[in-house]
Amino acid sequence: MSLCNSQRSNFRSHLERNIRLQTRPPAPARPSTTMNSSPHGSRASIDILEELQLIAAQNLEKLDINKYYEVVCELGKGTYGKVDLVIHKIRGTKMALKFLRKKTTKLKSFLREYSISLYLSPCPFIINMYGIAFETDEYYIFAQEYALAGDLFDIIPPQVGLSETVAKRCVHQVAIALDYLHCKKLVHRDIKPENILIFDKECRKVKLSDFGMTRRAGSPVKRVSGTIPYTAPELCDTTRQEGFCVDYSTDVWAFGVLLFCMLTGNFPWEKAMPNDTFYEEFVRWQRRRTGTVPSQWRRFTDEGLRMFRRLLSIEQERRCSVKEVFSYFNQCWMLDTENGNSSSLASSAPPLDIRSSSSEEDVLVDRLKQQSLSPACVVVKGSIMMDTHYSSMSTNSSSSSTGSYERVNRENNERGRILVATPIEICV
Ligand code: AMP
Repeated sequence: MSLCNSQRSNFRSHLERNIRLQTRPPAPARPSTTMNSSPHGSRASIDILEELQLIAAQNLEKLDINKYYEVVCELGKGTYGKVDLVIHKIRGTKMALKFLRKKTTKLKSFLREYSISLYLSPCPFIINMYGIAFETDEYYIFAQEYALAGDLFDIIPPQVGLSETVAKRCVHQVAIALDYLHCKKLVHRDIKPENILIFDKECRKVKLSDFGMTRRAGSPVKRVSGTIPYTAPELCDTTRQEGFCVDYSTDVWAFGVLLFCMLTGNFPWEKAMPNDTFYEEFVRWQRRRTGTVPSQWRRFTDEGLRMFRRLLSIEQERRCSVKEVFSYFNQCWMLDTENGNSSSLASSAPPLDIRSSSSEEDVLVDRLKQQSLSPACVVVKGSIMMDTHYSSMSTNSSSSSTGSYERVNRENNERGRILVATPIEICV
């Protein structure tokens, strides 16, 4: 059943009331939240978001998908619904349609994601929108530009990583996108490779996507949603009784973890909690309780480590802004850059393919063994064969991977993946 008229007009009057309230003379500006270099944004941007939602709510039509679109294939899938590649039957344009299941998605959430995506889409490094939103009996749907090479996760060779050149090219574009978002006083809250869409395998054109969890900075949230390895330590702390305020620094942390993943093909830890050995080692080094750089960080140059220290500062107040990463671009981040082991392997190593023959696998496993393996990943031949999007990791950290990591199947996905990313919701 579509949204009934009374629901829609209630929602509309709610939004109109809000907009009226916000067009009163502005109150004195409140100090910004915990970011050291506070992004500049304006109240106006928030009004525009409200207005976009109102317009979308007013114009949401019920459509017969098959009348207007030819479905080509499924691009992605999640608990929320799915993303399909379609061709617009009249215009002949290829588009990605995001379907959010009505059973699990409130109209308000759909309108928020759609409006935020639309609002941010002028940025060249954020996925473009067509201004198309509609509903069917089962789904709320909006259209996005189609990223023809998929997402970043697909091209990071597990345990090897991308070459520094490719990683920097990608990071540069993501940093601009994230800075743009922060300047609009928004926090993405789900930065990870799956949400970075790519248009070519060399990352010459990449775009940030998925604004389903994006919220205004400073807004209160009761639950922390995210993907464990990318979640900042202050949010992993389940002993905390009070709720959270959405803050830019959580994106900066996830961005730091993303950089590590791109450059190494591994996670630095399973979760940023004291019972994770690898995280604990990192904390000791970060807090200068030891001069010994943890083993998985030894592949970085001093400059690279300095950058990670700033992005992954344990205290969120001390974390840098995402822009600061630009000041490190002229420096080398990895030891052995380009000519050395990691990068030359990285640029030549294909992503793991479950269809590879056993001899190819042996070569791959041998090659991976020669790498200094990350804390989190131990390559088990069998796990390469798993027909899953994500696979559980073995780890010698004190917290077993079985508890918090579950296998997430992704139909139509042909590649085995060793990196693990499990969406979580920590209730506080
Ligand atoms: P999302 O829930 O929006 O993050 O989408 C889930 C997955 O679908 C992503 O990780 C991508 O692999 C794929 N996907 C989403 N949007 C697009 C798009 N516009 N173009 C190509 N693939 C997409």
